[in-house]
Amino acid sequence: MGSRASRRARARKRGAPLWAYLTALVLVPLLGVAVLTLAAVRSSVAEAESAARAEAAVRAVAQLDAARSGVEHEVVPALALVILADPVITARVGLPSAVMSAAAKQYRSAVQTTRRTTDTALAQVPAGAVGAAAARRALGELAVLRSRADANTVSLNELYYAYVGISDELTAAQSHTAAAANSEDVPVPTLAAMRDVQLVAQLAQAVTRQMPLFVDAEIQRGTPQPADEPWRAAWQAYADAQRQMSELTSPSLRGAWAQLRSASAVTALDAVLATRVADAGATALPATRLVAIVNQAAERDRLVTHLLDTAVDDAQNLAAADRVRANDRRTSTLVLGLGILLVSLLGALVLGRRVSRALGLLAGQADQVSKGSLVEVEVLGPREVRTVSLALGSAVGSLRRIQAQAHAVARGDLADPVLAEPLAGPLGEVVHASVEQMVSAVRQREELQSALAHQAAHDPLTDLPNRSQAVELVTSALHRGARSGDMAGLLFIDLDGFKAVNDAYGHACGDDVLRQAAHRMRSAVRPGDVVCRLGGDEFIVLVEAVGNERDLVDLAGRLIAAVSEPIPAEGGNVVIGASIGVAVSRDAGTDPDVLLAEADIAAYRAKQRGRGRAEMFDENLRAQLSERAELEAAVAHGLAAGEMQLHYQPVLDVATDRLIGYEALVRWNRPGHGMVPPDSFIPVAEESRLICDLDRWVLGEATRQLAEWRAGWPATEPEPTVAVNISGRHLADRRVVHDVADALAASGVPARLLILEVTETVLVDDPAAITHLAALRDLGVSIAIDDFGTGYTSIGQLRTMPVDTLKIDRSFIASTEHGNPELVALIIRAAHTFGLTVVAEGVEEQAQLDQLRADACDQAQGYLLYRPMPAEDAGALLRPQRAVPGPA
Ligand code: C2E
Ligand code: CA
Ligand code: CA
Repeated sequence: MGSRASRRARARKRGAPLWAYLTALVLVPLLGVAVLTLAAVRSSVAEAESAARAEAAVRAVAQLDAARSGVEHEVVPALALVILADPVITARVGLPSAVMSAAAKQYRSAVQTTRRTTDTALAQVPAGAVGAAAARRALGELAVLRSRADANTVSLNELYYAYVGISDELTAAQSHTAAAANSEDVPVPTLAAMRDVQLVAQLAQAVTRQMPLFVDAEIQRGTPQPADEPWRAAWQAYADAQRQMSELTSPSLRGAWAQLRSASAVTALDAVLATRVADAGATALPATRLVAIVNQAAERDRLVTHLLDTAVDDAQNLAAADRVRANDRRTSTLVLGLGILLVSLLGALVLGRRVSRALGLLAGQADQVSKGSLVEVEVLGPREVRTVSLALGSAVGSLRRIQAQAHAVARGDLADPVLAEPLAGPLGEVVHASVEQMVSAVRQREELQSALAHQAAHDPLTDLPNRSQAVELVTSALHRGARSGDMAGLLFIDLDGFKAVNDAYGHACGDDVLRQAAHRMRSAVRPGDVVCRLGGDEFIVLVEAVGNERDLVDLAGRLIAAVSEPIPAEGGNVVIGASIGVAVSRDAGTDPDVLLAEADIAAYRAKQRGRGRAEMFDENLRAQLSERAELEAAVAHGLAAGEMQLHYQPVLDVATDRLIGYEALVRWNRPGHGMVPPDSFIPVAEESRLICDLDRWVLGEATRQLAEWRAGWPATEPEPTVAVNISGRHLADRRVVHDVADALAASGVPARLLILEVTETVLVDDPAAITHLAALRDLGVSIAIDDFGTGYTSIGQLRTMPVDTLKIDRSFIASTEHGNPELVALIIRAAHTFGLTVVAEGVEEQAQLDQLRADACDQAQGYLLYRPMPAEDAGALLRPQRAVPGPA
């Protein structure tokens, strides 16, 4: 028991807890979400970085361009200053010195301005940008060049190409920077804007580079070495740059470009320059015209620079917007990723809690169920848990039904509908089958009990209520009558001639006749009237709510008629009859036994008055009854008061006339009545247990008397016997054996000297009597059948009975009817064959005695020999016998 519990505990501890499984389950997707978020964040970080790089590049491109533009603008005034310082050229131009010095002053100021612009732009190139190194280099080169120009130690040509070289380097750095920023992370519109910047920058370069070459070419016109080749190339570059401007992508920039082209300064300048290119042989333009052109070019320059600023602004704005967007995306990706992570974590936690709570609850409930408490199973949580909960719930339901059925069986409530409910599953089937078996076993027991109760209350032969049930029925009918004031009637039916049928045709036929008679009586009564069998051939009919006594007499007539019809039986029809006594409850106090006795005594009178008739219990019978009751009381009193005496009638040996012994016969010396013979009070005593008391007294007295006579009896002489009459009721009582044994013990008389006389009818009627007789015989006493021949015992039956002696009834001895002596002789011979001693009763004449002697009858008793006599007289007979053997 304990080891099983510990095994279960160990089994429970073995698996990992549910939360561990759930955490492991949730961890994988959570890690995935984290990695994805990280990747997304990293990609947007990279995006933001390249956007920042692009922005820096655009800014660097713009600064480099501004520097380049500055360098280009520095060229003209710087060259001009060199020219003005050259006396040869000054002379050739032919301007007044005042004008010349004013121009020199103006150019010097322009040079200072452009130098500042250029240096500022170069200084502003972002340090991390690709073009930063080029900008630093340009600054260095410019510083060297400027100092040489200021010191006038550089030729015009050298100065110009030095400037152009630096400008070209800056241009290269510009494209370099732009290309470096051109990564795949940079969005297409930004790239396009950067390309636009490059286009406009190219145009700006072409524009700024064009003018010094043009002026130089115009100055050289007409000289032996005209220098219009560089100017022509510059013009071509300008035309190319203009053409390439058609590739601009930004619509606003295109619009601005279209506006710029159509500006009057630009169109006029372009027209003049175009004619100058076309006409190589034209004469040099006058100085004023040249100055006007340069001014127009300055205006165009300003417009182009403005266009470039716009393009740079656009690109810068786009790049900045890209950066901001990329940063925003990074932030939102991060927030989204963290959000997803958080939500997943939260969801996993909530789900895990729900699942583990539902499972925990289920586990707890299952545990309780396993311990036998049939709890209500809650259904919650995920579907699978619900499915298990539902299954557990239905299992609990089945267990509840099993419990309910067990309770119903335990209560014995077999009608409970719960017992009919089938139980699901193999276990349920087994339980249901065993419950059904139990139920049917209990039902069978109940049926058996009711059958036994019916058996106890009914006569098995006719299935009518038996004697005890009859008494109960009469009792309750009298109670009902007492309440309602109705009379109850009782018919006592005694069949006539039934004993003869029984003896003639056998018991089976007798039983059949009884059944048919019972059936006829039941058919003859009204519904509600009850027919009962008291035993033997005695029946009663109980009638409730009797109108008048005549109705009962009529019913009795119908019953007699019905019973008297021939009854078909084996071996032909038999005819019986019925004598009926009728009694009616007079008042509320009527006792059921009294009513039965009244009907009984009325039936007895009907029998006496010729059978086949009905007699009403009347005042005469009532008087007889009360007389009998008084007599019974008087007998009881007389027995107690010692008024009983015993007379002894000697029994002699027929062959030798020798005294064998005595029959003890009771006498009642009733005060005021003299000596009362037994026939007057024995029948009354036999109706109650009084006869047992009387017999017990006779047994005691007779054995005591014999013991007295035996005192000093010579051992050589055969001892006298004493015979005592035992009535049927006493013999049926199991105490009879004790009574006899007690009498023998009290007197010291040996059992062999005591003879018990019983009538044959007693033996035929009651099987218990035969058992008691056998027990008495085992004590050693002898048994004599009294009044043999008056009943219906055949001699053959005697063989199986525990009997020693046969006393032939006096009527056979006295009768002189034809064939009777032969019958007596036959009985004697037959009895001898079975080893029985034969005693002839009532021998009154010598002829009878002679005949008995001739028939070899063993013993005789009768007035001829001795009358019954008081004990002293009987005792006196013993002494002379010892002296003189022979008859008195
Ligand atoms: P029973 O047992 O057949 O007794 C014999 C009866 O016949 C006696 O009558 C006796 O006096 C009478 N008797 C004897 N010889 C003759 C005779 O030659 N001619 C005539 N006519 N009668 C003769 P009793 O004493 O009046 O007894 C009558 C019956 O009373 C007895 O018949 C017996 O059945 C019963 N009885 C007598 N005493 C007792 C007793 O102590 N206990 C019980 N239970 N019954 C007793
Ligand atoms: Ca007798
Ligand atoms: Ca007798």
